[in-house]
Amino acid sequence: MNLIRCIFGKNDCFKTGKFIKPKGIMVHSTGADNPMLRRYVQPMVGYADYSKLMSLLGDNPNNNDWNRPGLKVCVHGFIGKLADGKVATVQTLPWDMRGWHSGTGKSGSANNTHISFEICEDGLSDRKYFEAVYREAVELTAMLCLEYDLDPMKPGVVICHSEGYKRGIASNHGDVMHWFPKHGKDMDDFRKDVALEMEEQSMTQEKFNEMMEAYLAQQAKKAPSAWSAKARAWAEKLGIVKGTGNQLEYKRPVTREEVAEMLYRFSQK
Ligand SMILES: [Zn+2]
Repeated sequence: MNLIRCIFGKNDCFKTGKFIKPKGIMVHSTGADNPMLRRYVQPMVGYADYSKLMSLLGDNPNNNDWNRPGLKVCVHGFIGKLADGKVATVQTLPWDMRGWHSGTGKSGSANNTHISFEICEDGLSDRKYFEAVYREAVELTAMLCLEYDLDPMKPGVVICHSEGYKRGIASNHGDVMHWFPKHGKDMDDFRKDVALEMEEQSMTQEKFNEMMEAYLAQQAKKAPSAWSAKARAWAEKLGIVKGTGNQLEYKRPVTREEVAEMLYRFSQK
């Protein structure tokens, strides 16, 4: 994920400054054919990274980005194209700030519970663009689920706007289900991909070592292949291969010290 930070300090939502305890993530898409991040995201003049962000995003000459007062909407992030055409994610609100993204349904509002991001739509038929923003969305959602200890497979945790409407916690919008299925994906696929990505992001050296130990133990128990029977009989008879206990562990990798030991035993015959 290419994650950039450009907080919407001028948006009234940010100025309201309410915070939530995030219980989920709501995925939106913009509903307009413009994949460029600069349409929605511009830094404030005076922002520390102003010139760096402007060169990354490019200028929006229409001044209709979301970093301005008077708007009734605000999300925590956008996924779309930088000025150079590469796909990136921009964080636009602190993740645990209360956003204005879902509207209200018959049972309440996901604004009180869900972190939100918009994926900038293009013409909806470009497979390459879809795959790039989908991947970015999976990685962002996985990162947030890990950060806020959320299970993406639990009902209502990772949902799109249209699912939020069905659950009674969002206004009646179709995103993202008017787009994802055009490229063979639905929100169940998305949740599964997020869960897989979380496993990958949470892989530590310690965990890897544990799995490696388990793998080596499995290999050690495997029986040797028939093609090496003659060589094994010879090596065992001369005492070059002794194994550990009654296990000869022919199928596990050999260490450099074991090679030295075996050569040494041979030289002593
Ligand atoms: Zn939406």
